Amino acid sequence: MSITTNLQNIQNAIATTAHSCGRDPADIKLLAVSKRHSKESIQEAIDAGQLHFGENYIQEAQEKCSAFKDVAFHFIGHVQSNKAKLAAELFSMVETVDRLKLAKVLNKHLEKIDKDLDILIQVNIGKDPKKYGVDPDETAALLQSIQPLSRIRPKGLMTMPPFSTDPAVTRSYFKALRLLSIDCADKKLFYDNENVELSMGMSHDFKIAIEEGSTSIRVGTAIFGERPNI
Ligand SMILES: *Cc1c(COP(=O)(O)O)cnc(C)c1O
Repeated sequence: MSITTNLQNIQNAIATTAHSCGRDPADIKLLAVSKRHSKESIQEAIDAGQLHFGENYIQEAQEKCSAFKDVAFHFIGHVQSNKAKLAAELFSMVETVDRLKLAKVLNKHLEKIDKDLDILIQVNIGKDPKKYGVDPDETAALLQSIQPLSRIRPKGLMTMPPFSTDPAVTRSYFKALRLLSIDCADKKLFYDNENVELSMGMSHDFKIAIEEGSTSIRVGTAIFGERPNI
């Protein structure tokens, strides 16, 4: 199926799922994850009205960001500190801040280029040793420690739960992230504690994520097909 049709199907699924749980579909952003996909594919998605894209590799994203200036790119991959300068320049949001050192390096570059940057804290909600992200128990402390960094705007939390074939298990992780975000908002740790963003849900589990309060789903395969091995 074409990218255009896939996007339409996902927008329909977002609307249906949102309505089924009493939410406004307009509160759920679709991030098209275009990593390893061609610029032609991105162009097709833009022509179909897609405005937000997610990329995982800084070098690859650099080329795409300069080719498509009218859409927003979010960084959703692991940020090595030596790539933080580029990340600060290129993206409208970095969703994967998981340590104070990275936040500090980002802030330093943002000061230099006179830019404010929206970020999310990546939480390792399943405490999976193979995954990046801050431990859920240390999330509030990390948010607290980045509060003095004036160029960084912590808008919410992001997670990638351990893969499970049991929807109930996946749901429990999404629920845990939402509860954690409520706790941090109660402590006034976000940039806007009335509108906290939750980036959770991918191709295979975005409906569950929407039911559990996701405000931004990151969908790759269901839009662009299988990723080529480049
Ligand atoms: C690749 C990726 C996605 C998209 O995954 P699909 O299963 O292709 O939808 C979402 N989030 C992150 C962090 C990713 O790395």
